[in-house]
Amino acid sequence: MKVLAIGAHPDDVELGCGATLAKHRAAGHGVAVLVMTVGERGPQLLTTRMAEQRDACEVLGAQLYWGGFSDCDVSAGSKTVELIERVIAEVQPDIVYTHAPEDSHQDHRAVAQASLSACRRVSRVCFYEGPTTLRFEPTIFVDVKDTMETKLTALRAHTSQVLKNGLVDLEALEALARYRGFQARIRHAEAFSAARFLWQIDDVGAGAATAGAAGVAVMDNEGVLL
Ligand SMILES: [Zn+2]
Repeated sequence: MKVLAIGAHPDDVELGCGATLAKHRAAGHGVAVLVMTVGERGPQLLTTRMAEQRDACEVLGAQLYWGGFSDCDVSAGSKTVELIERVIAEVQPDIVYTHAPEDSHQDHRAVAQASLSACRRVSRVCFYEGPTTLRFEPTIFVDVKDTMETKLTALRAHTSQVLKNGLVDLEALEALARYRGFQARIRHAEAFSAARFLWQIDDVGAGAATAGAAGVAVMDNEGVLL
């Protein structure tokens, strides 16, 4: 499986689906991250944020792509759509994670809209939540018990946001994962809503067919199960 996560700024993807990306990686899936701007309007140097994003992607085992747009000035128009389409053509993702559409940050809203347009042929498009998401009704939950620590490590790579300026609260993120887990009747979860989600029952069926074949193998000549 190949996975693409799209964020407007450095650290957005880690906040929204970092533990899920780590989970994909652990399952042997190819993970790519597209960050539309370098977050140059934030309280630190542009080169710092680029290096932090590279470090975070290394923690997640993800290939990093930069969109090259201006911080706080990302549009939902054709330039943004075309850029995302180009990355989709290269990555060929089976699933795309992107911002939830209802968000107080204009870049997040724009990226959500542009992602939807660019993903018209992608069978699974999921929205993640973030600190500025306004309305979010999760319907898909990923068990991230094993990878929550990797998510926090990836976020700590964004030193200028997490450790220096207090823009990201790791404690709150842990609490959110615990709450989303509670909603999903598990311990820790990341939550998503889906614009589209193809569920391939055949994959489960293939496992069942194999088990069935094994059952046939233990029948005697009269077809009686041994
Ligand atoms: Zn952002």
